[in-house]
Amino acid sequence: MRQQASRYLVVSDAVYADGAGKPVRLVLNTRTSRVSTVGDQVARALRHGDCAALPAAVSDRLSDLKILVPEGRDELTDVLDEQRARARSAATLNYVLVPNGYCNLGCEYCGQVHVRGKTSANHRSAVRDRILRAVNRPSTQEVRIGWFGDDPLMAYAVVRDLARQFVEAAVAAGVRYRSRLTTDGALLTLRKLRVLYEECRVDSVCVTIDGIGDPRRQHDRVLAVLADVVRHADEFPELGLTIRGTLDVADIDHVDTFIDAMVKAGLNHPMVEFDLRVVHAWSNDMSAPRVARQRFAAAEPRWLRRMHEVGMVTRTLIPAQLRGPICPAVTRSAEVISSSGAIFSCTEHPLVPEHEQGDVLELVEHADHDRQRPAGRYDDWHDRVNRGEQSCAGCVFLPVCGGRCPKHWGEGNPPCPSYKFNIQQRLELEALRTGLVPLLT
Ligand code: SF4
Ligand code: SF4
Repeated sequence: MRQQASRYLVVSDAVYADGAGKPVRLVLNTRTSRVSTVGDQVARALRHGDCAALPAAVSDRLSDLKILVPEGRDELTDVLDEQRARARSAATLNYVLVPNGYCNLGCEYCGQVHVRGKTSANHRSAVRDRILRAVNRPSTQEVRIGWFGDDPLMAYAVVRDLARQFVEAAVAAGVRYRSRLTTDGALLTLRKLRVLYEECRVDSVCVTIDGIGDPRRQHDRVLAVLADVVRHADEFPELGLTIRGTLDVADIDHVDTFIDAMVKAGLNHPMVEFDLRVVHAWSNDMSAPRVARQRFAAAEPRWLRRMHEVGMVTRTLIPAQLRGPICPAVTRSAEVISSSGAIFSCTEHPLVPEHEQGDVLELVEHADHDRQRPAGRYDDWHDRVNRGEQSCAGCVFLPVCGGRCPKHWGEGNPPCPSYKFNIQQRLELEALRTGLVPLLT
């Protein structure tokens, strides 16, 4: 069968010498997230789509790597079908719970409105009933609970109470249970983390650190707690601990200071993964994040290199394969339950007045717990990509990115991840990591 180059390849601009001194390039296949080393001539043939003259042994190897695919293959349809299938699966259910409506910080970029006050007893029991019913559905193999929103540790007692019941139900039903908590860290302590990990079965904690360039922000207490956690790392063998530095334009010149602070606190430790991100544009001003995203992508490779040198674990250089739906908003197997009692499909809808009024799918206290949430704004996402409503259908990163964020596309704010703009520098770092020597061409 005749073969052609996959449309999902990124060939390195740089040429390297392999161990035998022969010129080679790196080829990233975004359908497999695999980076392969191929001879320079082969790389040029892949780039120009001129593969007919490749020797049979080379073609066979490239076919095995899915770098070559059968001629005429409609890979876009294949990719979208795979992503649709993951979104339609009811085996893994994902509930993002916002247990309270008050936040102790008040970041400028956040479009949420924070109100002190407790949710009603009916709200809590309705959330519990809905999730217990889902755990016990015959199709359910795994339940994921995300504690999210304003700092969920402001509702620590609610988290504990609900998580205990979810864990008990999952164990009884033989369903896998996974849980992630996102917090600003202000109320985190080692003692609370032990309870969250052991009792609430939280296996992933993401501590967000905002305003790294703002001298008014005091991160010392949070870093001291995290340093304490790292000193007790052997108590948390299954815990994924992520420190997410969220940056806006004002922070971009302060990343080196941030790195220094992390090293000083001893957080360059295998237990901790760092994730630097440009701050989200919620539903307010969008121009500043767009500028930040461009500057971020330009500066990021140098940060990644420096973090690697000081032993900070970073998210992978090479974009990883999608394992599930791109986000809760594209699958009815996921939903977001706000402290207001509203069920949404998107994590940026709770507590934002415009969405709390216009995007409520139903109220948890009135919902039929035997049914998945009603369709939201973005459940037809893959069809929209297929129709070419954004530039994703023609993008080489579609298999690993999936279009990233339907909401931001809808707001005219393309959410393309930084790797779209700095993949060549990432491949250079990958080459360095694997010992390839750049050739001057
Ligand atoms: S649409 Fe965007 S903001 Fe909403 S859940 Fe998906 S990724 Fe998050
Ligand atoms: S969001 Fe950007 S990087 Fe992702 S698939 Fe769409 S165009 Fe490509």
